[in-house]
Amino acid sequence: MTPDTGYYDDDYNLHQSKQGDDAYWELVRLQDERARQQRLRGMTPQQRKNNPNAEPMGHFTGRCKRCGSNDLWDDNAHYGCNTCGAFLL
Ligand SMILES: [Zn+2]
Repeated sequence: MTPDTGYYDDDYNLHQSKQGDDAYWELVRLQDERARQQRLRGMTPQQRKNNPNAEPMGHFTGRCKRCGSNDLWDDNAHYGCNTCGAFLL
């Protein structure tokens, strides 16, 4: 290793913790999936169809709060949904 960069040390530490990292990210992924399932349960069938990943809906989310679609139009003062026709202020 070169003392000025420490490259080899960094690589070594990365390999040492790789397995722990995988387990950690698997746990994070499972928690995300559980939270997604929970959000889906609170959604209407139409919202589930338009927003299968249960992303946030409503103001400033880019998704219609009525149907979950991300096909929105907007002008200076209003926005609305091209999918279900909701007019949102
Ligand atoms: Zn909509």
